[in-house]
Amino acid sequence: MSGFNTQAVHAGQHKDPHTGAVVPPIYQTSTFIQDGINVLRSGHEYSRGSNPTRDGFQDQLTALEGGASGFAFASGIAAEDALLRAVLEPGDHIILGADGYGGTNRLISKLHSKWGITSSAVDITSLDSVRAAVRPNTALLWVETPSNPLLGIADLAGWADIAREHGALLVVDNTFATPYLQRPLDFGAHAVVHSTTKYIGGHSDVLGGAVIVADHHFRGQTLAEAVGYQQFAGGAVAGPQDSYLAARGLKTLGLRMERHCASADTLARWLDAQPEVTRVYYPGLESHPGHELAARQQRGFGGIVSLALEDEAAARAFAQSMQYFQLSVSLGGVESLVCYPREMTHASLIGTPLEIPANLVRLSVGIEETEDLIADLQRGLAAARATRPVSTVREKALENA
Ligand SMILES: *Cc1c(COP(=O)(O)O)cnc(C)c1O
Repeated sequence: MSGFNTQAVHAGQHKDPHTGAVVPPIYQTSTFIQDGINVLRSGHEYSRGSNPTRDGFQDQLTALEGGASGFAFASGIAAEDALLRAVLEPGDHIILGADGYGGTNRLISKLHSKWGITSSAVDITSLDSVRAAVRPNTALLWVETPSNPLLGIADLAGWADIAREHGALLVVDNTFATPYLQRPLDFGAHAVVHSTTKYIGGHSDVLGGAVIVADHHFRGQTLAEAVGYQQFAGGAVAGPQDSYLAARGLKTLGLRMERHCASADTLARWLDAQPEVTRVYYPGLESHPGHELAARQQRGFGGIVSLALEDEAAARAFAQSMQYFQLSVSLGGVESLVCYPREMTHASLIGTPLEIPANLVRLSVGIEETEDLIADLQRGLAAARATRPVSTVREKALENA
């Protein structure tokens, strides 16, 4: 089989037979003319069921994840919701990684709970804690690695073993790693979910989500049948224009990830040496507890770096003082972003045991020149320093010297 970047450019991207256009046209149509009653010219009937532009993107992403089938949705959360509805039944229990996207937790604890779904949060880095959380009615395990925003690393093969032993499904949110860095299905996961809004789209100009499934039977049908039916009957599909943008982004994913990873690594090491920074969370650092595991599981360590500053005031000042690291939720675009997860992406966790520390800041490292980004971080650290009495900063610098 051809390599990643070759597949990224060609998989699912059928050239236009009528004009020879190198880029497949965007099939901006809701319906397809039938040659007779229920005689479909190319298998397409109505764009909720299938659309050539969406199909092309689904095939492209499925090839890169090494899956059996893929389904594109209007957002990452819509993809997650569709997958859960497709496979779960009232009374089921979910094991959910504690460190993960706040919206996933909200979806399960606020919406799916109304339909009789319960969940337990576990430390993603401890297989013992995963095993201890299994109940007779556990139907699904859900993990994100690297996790958001603490960049924890979960042992995917270990999680897959536990799921298999109990006849449960393992779902991996692969948004942070992308298929370029990590292919969860190769480690035994049954389904991968993506917010294609992030690295796959890659340019902060489109919302989207996807579910990629392995060839696996669950509760009397294949996962492809279950999720495919949910996509059609539930209807939260990705539109043609959004599918096109995601497909275009996906073609350059490998190139962009190389750059995101290299730059993030440089910035993480630089931050680690700064006296104002009390901790850097980046799996590429040898001091990261998940470093060895990430090195085995991933091709690179990703473009997200989180850091802890002295206190909340320093973190807030840092997050609001830079030029290129723009204060915003979301991540994975060519432009650098900074986020204050506790009150932005993970606000729904405040007051729960999963709340994010007040001194934590998350960076999505873009593809700008690394030196310009370091200069920007220097501005941020100067703003953080300005929140503190001079003597404290000096003591800290001496400690670290
Ligand atoms: C953004 C994100 C989601 C949700 O995706 P949307 O496209 O915003 O609906 C899910 N998981 C992770 C890891 C994310 O970063």
